[in-house]
Amino acid sequence: MRAPGQVIDIARTLQEAGFETWCVGGAVRDALLGEAHLDWDLATAATPTQVRKLFRRTVPVGIEFGTIGVLDRDNRMHEVTTFRRDVKTDGRHAVVEFGASLDEDLARRDFTINAIAYDPIDHRLYDPFGGQIDLTRRVVQAVGEAEARMREDRLRALRAIRFAARFRFEIEPDTWTAIVGSAPFLTRLSPERVKQELEKTMEQVLAPSTAFARWRDAGAFASVVPTLAQVGDDTLRAIDALPRPGLAGRPLRKTLRFAVLFSEAGGKQAERALRDLRFSNQDIANVSALVDRWTRFAPALTESLAAGVLPNDAELRRLAAGIGRLRVAAFVRLAAARWSAVGGVSPVLVRRLYRRMITIAFREPIELADLTVDGDDLRSAGIATGPTLGRILHALLQLVIDDPAANTREALLGAARELAVSPETA
Ligand code: ATP
Ligand code: MG
Repeated sequence: MRAPGQVIDIARTLQEAGFETWCVGGAVRDALLGEAHLDWDLATAATPTQVRKLFRRTVPVGIEFGTIGVLDRDNRMHEVTTFRRDVKTDGRHAVVEFGASLDEDLARRDFTINAIAYDPIDHRLYDPFGGQIDLTRRVVQAVGEAEARMREDRLRALRAIRFAARFRFEIEPDTWTAIVGSAPFLTRLSPERVKQELEKTMEQVLAPSTAFARWRDAGAFASVVPTLAQVGDDTLRAIDALPRPGLAGRPLRKTLRFAVLFSEAGGKQAERALRDLRFSNQDIANVSALVDRWTRFAPALTESLAAGVLPNDAELRRLAAGIGRLRVAAFVRLAAARWSAVGGVSPVLVRRLYRRMITIAFREPIELADLTVDGDDLRSAGIATGPTLGRILHALLQLVIDDPAANTREALLGAARELAVSPETA
């Protein structure tokens, strides 16, 4: 185990000035698991003021909680936090006090696997709560009395579930009981916090189904995302079939994972749930549009594919028109994820569907703008402006969707004149 050079330098500066300093938290845990971790956090006996005096370039990231960011030569920031103890908690925020010992600082951390300290200079581990044993046993276990620790901060219930899913660990029974007991109180978390936990789960966890099954089984969904209270296992497993958005925040990947999560709910319910969780307008629009298309078009499409039949070209063009050109790829990927979780649809057929739909979406006429005539052309041809004109344009689009060869000016103007004579057919 070895900390990055810059972190060692910071620890050495503090130690040489007489302040006990340790690496703590996620980086130590991940290094022991053999995984790389970007942010090595340091905990020290020095107060924030003393830390600021020792380093040339610092950022007051969270002075009231004792956290100073120290910038290294490459402008990377390393968080250095003064040993703390909690003097008061309210179910989320703690009032902290400095002048604490390393033991006290580790005792206020959430899980044993997150409460291991490492001295990057003598390579010594300090692990008073048996975090290393739990890493080997692969369990997430609260530091101290689980029920009391969750009462101090209800967010820990969701964090425990996330860590367990991320490392494919079990949750220790008392810790699980405390999570279940916390579920009714999760309503006290801000919607932004809950959203952040959902997003971190989508980003960090390869197979989020185990995490979300626990949210459901513990009653966390019933409490904070009621639409998902009874979410099905097939739906959750379908999320696992999609790639993680990653920390670079790939918008399509994020949209897809969330669209699957809400895919049973219907577009309107998904939209409401996402709005309540304070997702951005863009996320809400993207996810709920996909859920809406899935709800409307999946039954017929699934039935056809399960019977081994790819719908004909006209049917696929109608489908693409209903989904919308720019959402076709995402729709098929969402569908493919669900079908792979449920079974019953041949992957070969799904690949053919994908290729065909992409070609249709970008090469074939499926929108009004793709027609060789527009409203002005119809007016020049003597058709009066008004609702009839709009209906005629839509009728022409249907014609072209059925038969793209009909998308010529002559054919469409001819068809438009006929429709104008008997507008009730338009
Ligand atoms: P990640 O890889 O997700 O960042 P992490 O363990 O570094 O994992 P952070 O949220 O960055 O998690 O927190 C850093 C450390 O601070 C944790 O390892 C834990 O020791 C402590 N900690 C964070 N949040 C809490 C909390 N709500 N209650 C108690 N301790 C916490
Ligand atoms: Mg971290």
